[in-house]
Formats: sequence, structure tokens, C-alpha cells
Amino acid sequence: MSTYTEEDQITLYNKVQATLAKAKRSPVTEVKRKKALEEIKYLENVAIESFTDKLQKYNFTPLKPTGLDILQINVGYLCNQICNHCHVNAGPARKELMTLETMNACLAALDEGNFHTVDLTGGAPEIHPDFKWFVEEISKRNVKIIVRSNLTILTFHEDYAYLPEFFKKHKIEVIASMPCYTIENVDKQRGEGVFEASIKGLQILNTLGYGVESDLTLHLVYNPGGASLPGDQMGLERDYKEMLKKNFDVVFNNLYTITNMPISRFLTDLKNQDKVEHYMHLLVDNFNLAAVENVMCRNTISVRFDGTIFDCDFNQMLHLPISGKGSKNIKDFNLEELATRTIVLKNHCYGCTAGAGSSCQGVVA
Ligand code: SF4
Ligand code: SF4
Repeated sequence: MSTYTEEDQITLYNKVQATLAKAKRSPVTEVKRKKALEEIKYLENVAIESFTDKLQKYNFTPLKPTGLDILQINVGYLCNQICNHCHVNAGPARKELMTLETMNACLAALDEGNFHTVDLTGGAPEIHPDFKWFVEEISKRNVKIIVRSNLTILTFHEDYAYLPEFFKKHKIEVIASMPCYTIENVDKQRGEGVFEASIKGLQILNTLGYGVESDLTLHLVYNPGGASLPGDQMGLERDYKEMLKKNFDVVFNNLYTITNMPISRFLTDLKNQDKVEHYMHLLVDNFNLAAVENVMCRNTISVRFDGTIFDCDFNQMLHLPISGKGSKNIKDFNLEELATRTIVLKNHCYGCTAGAGSSCQGVVA
């Protein structure tokens, strides 16, 4: 398991710098594509009813978008942490970074489309060398901007100390990972020292008015520590609010509970514990038709660092681009084609429809 002590932070910072210095903004390699294909096949071989058969039974196929509201942009997989359950496999050695050309293509798509929100993610999106410029450009376009922050980046190094004020200036909605309100659980999942650094980050944001003033929104994200479904979102939010206020004087707006997707590091974890079958059955047994209506791929598209468009961040990790004969790159953005596409579904999609459902904005049913 990774750690995140003060010494580690210096080592991690040096690693990040070394990666940035030689970042080739590298293309997707065959090895990674092959690994993703193996993951898809692995899940197809688990003895469960396939997700597409399940949806067919309820006349939900082909699954179509309801709109193009959210443009989620993954600017690269570089991160200052290496968390156990990261579905991106992000870390300080990942060289994939979005080019300025692709960022400009995203801006052009924003001008052409009807998106009301841009959701910036990574890795740690703030590490991208053009992050500041990109946010400034997006904010000229009168859309809501979300940054998915790991919080530790705010105190990682003086290079990033400008971030809280910058977030405030652009009224950025911060959605921050915080899988528990206890040090033990957070450090176990995200690395020793992460909890303390995250609390520091939250306190800085609170001091600026985040979670307090109505236009400075701060949401936290919970995901289970193991092979279980998240508990009740409202109940957990109450517990979080009580414990974080009492112990650290930290406040926030809402808690989003997110189901661990059976892909990437979490799938490896499940395999190592021989729990893949158990987890997939848990997801299938808790299939909730009401969640299908609102799965996030129905109003979101996800753009990879190289401009390739996916139905969601999870399909991005599995190298499953959008369907259709037309271009699959944001530089050829076509509103009509995207709005009428058929969403690509595989068995990992059960992760979005189990229990109260799961999306980047928490429960959906
Ligand atoms: S979960 Fe978030 S903070 Fe952790 S390694 Fe992945 S991208 Fe980085
Ligand atoms: S994994 Fe992606 S494509 Fe599948 S249901 Fe969830 S959001 Fe939609």
C-alpha cells in the first residue's frame, strides 16, 4: 500500500516533476488496451446474466442519451497519490496528459453544444501544466465548472498553493474524495498521511467560504472500503457532518456515495481476494431498474486526454469508445450524432445500477 507522509510527499513531488519533464502526452499503448480487453472478458465470463440481456428484458435497449448536459474531461492520469481503489490507475508516473490542441477542441465543443456543466477530472486535474489556463477559458463560457479534487493536492507543494483562491475566484464546485471520516479507513484506502492532508485541504477551503457560502459548493465522495455496496447516502451524510464538524470543525454541502466499479485496481483487488464472483453477484442481486433511467452516460460524455469520446469515465478506462460510424474524437464534435448514439454497455455497468444506483454525482434512484 502507498503512503503519504511528509517525506513521501517530497519524493512524490519529485516523481511528478520528472514525469512532467518527460511527459510525451503519450498515446494509449497496446499493452493498456489489451489489459482493458482482458478485464472486459473476465467480467463477461462470470456466471451472471449479462447487463445487456438484463436491460433487454425491461425494454431498455438500445440505451439512448436523454441529453448532452455534462462534458466530463479527463485531462490526464498523473496524480500525487496512488489509491488502492483508483479506477483510473492514476499515479505519479502516468505520462498521459491532454494536449493544448485537444483542450481547444473541448472548448470548441462547448461553444457548439448545449452543455451546462464541465466536469474536470484526472488523475489530479490540477497537476496538469495547462490547468489554470484551461479553467480560465472554460469560465468565459458561462457553464458550471466542477473540479474533482483529491484535496491533498492543495497542500502538496507551494506550486499548488494558489488553488483554493483560484477555485473561489471562478466559483468552481469542488467534489472531493473522502472515503470515511476516520483516519484508519482513509489511510488504508488512500495511503498513510492522506487523511491528515485531506482535512487540512478541507479546512483551507472552509476558511475561504467553501461549504459555507451559497455560491462556494463543496461536496465529498464516499466509496466503500471493500466488496460491499455503499450505505444509505443521507444517513452517511449525517454521520460525516457530525463527525467532521465535531472533530475538525470541517463543514461541507453534500456527501455523494459511489459504488466501487469492478474494473482497474479494484478488480485486481477483488481477484487477489478471490471475491470477483461474490461482488458481481452482489451487484446483480441488487439491480435496480429505477437507477437505469438516470445512469450518468445518459446526459454526460467523457473525453480522454487524447480527445477520444466515451459514454463515461469507466468505459474510458476499459477503452470502450462511443458506438457509431462517425469520428470518435472531440475535435470532430457532432451534436446530432452524440445525442442519438447507442450507449456501449458491458457487465461492469451493474456497478451503476445496484442499490440506489451510482454516478459521479452519487445515488441516482
Ligand atoms: S483515486 Fe483519485 S487521488 Fe487516488 S490515485 Fe486515483 S485519481 Fe489519484
Ligand atoms: S458504466 Fe458507464 S456506460 Fe455503463 S451504465 Fe455506468 S455510466 Fe453507463
